[in-house]
Amino acid sequence: MGSQQLTPADIAELERLEKILERTQADFLLHGRTLLELREKKLYLRDYSTFEGYCQGRWGYGAKRAQQLMKAAAFWESEKLLVDMGAKKDSPILEATSERQLGKLIQTIKSGSNASRLDTTPPQNKTNLPSIANVHAKSKLPEVLDDCGLAIPDCCLSYWEQRPEIQEMMSAVSRVKCWVDDELKKDNKLLHTMTNSIVADLSRAYQSLEQCKPYAVCTVCQGYPQLKPDSFCDFCGGSGLIAKWRYETQADKRVIVMREKVIAMSEKK
Ligand SMILES: [Zn+2]
Repeated sequence: MGSQQLTPADIAELERLEKILERTQADFLLHGRTLLELREKKLYLRDYSTFEGYCQGRWGYGAKRAQQLMKAAAFWESEKLLVDMGAKKDSPILEATSERQLGKLIQTIKSGSNASRLDTTPPQNKTNLPSIANVHAKSKLPEVLDDCGLAIPDCCLSYWEQRPEIQEMMSAVSRVKCWVDDELKKDNKLLHTMTNSIVADLSRAYQSLEQCKPYAVCTVCQGYPQLKPDSFCDFCGGSGLIAKWRYETQADKRVIVMREKVIAMSEKK
């Protein structure tokens, strides 16, 4: 069992959360969210060495069931946040009336398909529904992940696929910049019409290209600019993807935290 000493405050918190868990056996969302909180705070360590052991021993369900509950709750919360922030007009996730329905919607969204239509096939046998932007079935293809590990919706894959091209342009500009810089330093007479400002210009060109290189699914429209109230997303310019600098400096931190939870959970599947 391998337990660990918790502080009195942690024990009080564990007891509070367990009371909620007892009360919410029938409310899968609140139950899942509470489990998530308990796991994040590592409160299961009082009596168990692993979270899985805790779920089995204390609540009688396995790790898989716990993951299902937590994933549903994390998804629901991230959708709620997006709707609250105005990034999405509404979300079918928030209207799901049963765990089964919510599970199907999550599966549909994860496969990059139209969330407004329910996928009635079991997850292990999923055939993607038509995506929002275009209607070619990409079933059986493995998920393409952005640099943070989030699945990229089908409708922005064509932009994602341009990454190597942009990277190639960046390398080319970089080579030119280094060459010009070196030759100017060597006082190459052939470059007598050039000044040092060309090096700065090339640096700027490199940065401009870098700022176009997609890094992550847009944190505002979640890769679905066409679902935004005005069918356009300023944040990603309508590509559904954003560059690293934007992700790191301008993205809403709450969305990033929520997304990290979802990614961590899908990795543990
Ligand atoms: Zn966007």
